[in-house]
Amino acid sequence: MMQPVTESPNGKGILVIGGGIAGMTAAIEAAETGCDVVLVEKAPYLGGRVSRINQYFPKLCPPTCGLEINFKRIKNNARITVLSQAEVAEVTGTPGDYRVTVKVSPRFVTDACTLCGQCAEVCPAERPDEYNMGLGTTKAAYLPYAMAFPAAYAIDRAACKEGCTACAEACAYGAVDLAQEPEEKVFEVASVVAATGWTPYDANKIDNLGFGRYPNVVTNVIMERLAAPNGPTAGKILRPSDQAQPKSVAFVQCAGSRDENHLPYCSAVCCAASLKQATYVKAMDPAAEAVIFYIDIRTPGRLEDFRTKVVEEQGVELVKGKVAKVEEDPVTHDLLVTAEDVLGGRKVTRRFHMVVLATGIVPNTDGLPAGFTLDEFRFIAAPEGKTGLYGAGCVRRPEEVSATVQDATGAALKAYQCVVRSAHHG
Ligand SMILES: Cc1cc2nc3c(=O)[nH]c(=O)nc-3n(C[C@H](O)[C@H](O)[C@H](O)COP(=O)(O)OP(=O)(O)OC[C@H]3O[C@@H](n4cnc5c(N)ncnc54)[C@H](O)[C@@H]3O)c2cc1C
Repeated sequence: MMQPVTESPNGKGILVIGGGIAGMTAAIEAAETGCDVVLVEKAPYLGGRVSRINQYFPKLCPPTCGLEINFKRIKNNARITVLSQAEVAEVTGTPGDYRVTVKVSPRFVTDACTLCGQCAEVCPAERPDEYNMGLGTTKAAYLPYAMAFPAAYAIDRAACKEGCTACAEACAYGAVDLAQEPEEKVFEVASVVAATGWTPYDANKIDNLGFGRYPNVVTNVIMERLAAPNGPTAGKILRPSDQAQPKSVAFVQCAGSRDENHLPYCSAVCCAASLKQATYVKAMDPAAEAVIFYIDIRTPGRLEDFRTKVVEEQGVELVKGKVAKVEEDPVTHDLLVTAEDVLGGRKVTRRFHMVVLATGIVPNTDGLPAGFTLDEFRFIAAPEGKTGLYGAGCVRRPEEVSATVQDATGAALKAYQCVVRSAHHG
C-alpha cells in the first residue's frame, strides 16, 4: 500500500527507525520544526531500554516523568505518525529523495482498547515476559508495562492456544481483531535517522564469571528490573536461588567491555550504572555490603560528583582490580569472587550473596537498511560528505541519556537540513 508522508511546508518529511529515547527525541525535535515524521518501532511500545531502568543516574529519579512528557509531546503532535511492531524492510533512493518500505506486524488490538484488561484476564496462554528480561511470564494478551505507549494491549499470536478466541469474546469494546494481517507501507522522505539503540552483551559468553551457571550471578540490566517497583519482584532485590534479600552484593565492572576477546571498547555508562545500583542495595538495607570491582572508574563530568557522593555518603566500597573468576559455594549458592586488589598489592577472594555483571553495550546495527556506514565495532559512523542517513543515540556510541538526547537533537537538525535542501531542489 503506497502511503506517502504528507508534504511538510518545507518539503518531504523524515523517517526515524527506533522509538527509544534517541528516536523519540529526534522525531519530536524534527516535528516541532514543522517537519512530518514517521517513527518506526519494532516493539509494541516506545521508550526502549530507558523504560526498563528503575532510576536514572545521577539524580536517581524514575524515568517515568521524562518518558511521559515525551509520550505527551508525540501524542499531541499531529505531524508524528507512530508505527509500533514495525520494521524497515528497504530504503532506496538518494539524499532528499528516499523511498522507505515498512513492514507492520498486527497487534490484534485496535485503538478502541480502553486498557480494561479483560482480554488478559480470560487469556489461557502464557509467554516469556521480554520487558522484564524473561524473569516471569505474561499472558499472550498483555500490556507491555503499566504506562506503555501506545496505550493498548497486544496479543502475541505465536503464544496463543490453537483456535482460541477468548480475548475477542471477552472484549466489551470490540477492540480485539484477530483477523488483522501484516501490512506494508511505503513512505517518501528526505532523510532517515537510525536510532536503533543497543543490546546488552551476552554474559553467557564470559565463561569465567559464571552467568547462566550460577543463579545468583545476574547482569546489570536484570538488576534494573529486580529493583524496579513494576518489576518481577515488585522492587525487592531478591537473589534468584532462594528469594532471600542479599546482605552483600559484588559488582563486576567491564564484564565483556575493554576486553579483546569480547568488546574491545569501553561501554561508557556501566561505571555510573553500578554506582547507582549500589545505592539500590543500600536503600534496601543500609548495612548491606556493596563492593564494586573495577579496572578504572569512568565517571566524567558531572558524574564525578555522583561517584564521590555514592562512595562517601553511602559507604560503597571500591576495589581496583579485574575479577579473575566467580565460583559458587554449591551448598549456600553464595559466590566467591577472586580478583587482584591492585592498591592492596594482593590477590583476594571474597564471598557475596549476589554478583552483578556490568555487561556492556552492543549496537543494534544488524539488519539496518543499506547505506549506513559502520565503524570497526559496528556502531554507526559519522557519514562522509553529504548524505541523508544519520545515526542517533547509542547506536552511534555508548552514552548516557542526556548525551543521547543531545545527539538525537543534532541528528534531527541534520535530517531537517535534508528536508530543506530537498524542498529547494525538488
Ligand atoms: C545497566 C544500565 C543502566 C543504565 N542506567 C542509566 C541511567 O541511570 N541514566 C542514564 O542517563 N543512562 C543510563 N543507561 C544508558 C541508557 O540506557 C542509554 O543512554 C539509552 O538506552 C540510549 O537510548 P537509545 O534510544 O539510543 O537506545 P535504546 O534505549 O536501545 O532504544 C532503541 C529503540 O530502537 C528499537 N529498535 C531496535 N532495532 C530496531 C529496528 N530494527 N527497527 C525498529 N526499531 C528498532 C528498540 O526496540 C528500542 O525501542 C544505562 C545503561 C545500562 C546498560
